[in-house]
Amino acid sequence: MSFLSLTNIKKSFGPVQVVHDFNMGIEKGEFVSFLGPSGCGKTTILRMIAGFETPSGGSIFIDGKDQGALKPNQRNIGMVFQAYALFPNMNVHDNVAFGLKVAGTSKTDIDIRVKQMLGLIKLEHLADRFPYQLSGGQQQRVALARALAVKPQVLLLDEPLSALDAKIRISLREEIRQIQQQLGITTVFVTHDQEEALSISDRIVVMNAGRADQIGTPFEIYNTPATRFVASFVGTLNIIEAKVADPAAGSITIGNQPVTLREPIAGLNGGDTISLALRPEAGSIAEGAKGDASISGEVVSTSFLGSVIRTRLRVGSDIISFDMFNNPGIIPPASGENVTLRFAAKDLLVIRE
Ligand code: ATP
Repeated sequence: MSFLSLTNIKKSFGPVQVVHDFNMGIEKGEFVSFLGPSGCGKTTILRMIAGFETPSGGSIFIDGKDQGALKPNQRNIGMVFQAYALFPNMNVHDNVAFGLKVAGTSKTDIDIRVKQMLGLIKLEHLADRFPYQLSGGQQQRVALARALAVKPQVLLLDEPLSALDAKIRISLREEIRQIQQQLGITTVFVTHDQEEALSISDRIVVMNAGRADQIGTPFEIYNTPATRFVASFVGTLNIIEAKVADPAAGSITIGNQPVTLREPIAGLNGGDTISLALRPEAGSIAEGAKGDASISGEVVSTSFLGSVIRTRLRVGSDIISFDMFNNPGIIPPASGENVTLRFAAKDLLVIRE
């Protein structure tokens, strides 16, 4: 059994089932993100682990112990919420000390532990400040220190970065990951931000309407999305509707242009529609670009995104985006220009569901 084991978890609110038979084993020290759009059930799963919601079915075990009968305060869990949720009338030291005090820890031990925690989040110098005297990022670091002070078995993070501005969000997510690895604490993180999930997780659960569409490493989720939903939600994949020409030969047409896939297409006939995904960084229009497949199209628009220039190409009824890396000599194609996009046929992923 995994360290954190979720078996056949279901949850209904009245007649509405919001989590359907969820199963997952999370290993000790793993950082797992639940990723999905608003309302997909990710927070509800987190709240069931914490004990704030009771599952309508299934079981949750932590380190071999059934959590079913335990109240939230009997579970050995630390939690950080989106809103900072610090005690406004307590300074930083007392906020971090709170759980230890409740647990009856001696004053000397509390002071040692709080000092350790403030060292971990690099805020030793702000121990006497009150929450209103801290920035949002500092408040979230204090919330993290408070959650970790009691040495929980599992750390739950519910969109802890979403109220912060972009720059702080990136630096704090790196800090969270570094602290998590330093402590080796099993962590479950909820987010609707795919870049956030890809950048800090050991594994990602992509949730879609109360079900896990895919569970995998960031590489697996990004490179080989299991469903159309994962492909469209994670990354900026192109979804291309192509026509099957000869399934045994793996040949298809994209906007009437022939392309041969690396493998035969099982289960489909000539004339059927097939969905394919292509990453924007997989193709190139540069002279001498490598690749065993190509399609031509008309440039619809280009947008400058900083490190890359994204160009949208009309190919038949599809719009296909591709990225060119920015460099000082780059000349993006003009709207209306006809260009040929070259790519490796193996980068065209067949999307089945
Ligand atoms: P968000 O990012 O918006 O929080 P989420 O993926 O975390 O979304 P949940 O908060 O888990 O989604 O909610 C899943 C579904 O359950 C939603 O349709 C929500 O309206 C519903 N829901 C959540 N809590 C309750 C509740 N206490 N009573 C009734 N319905 C609820």
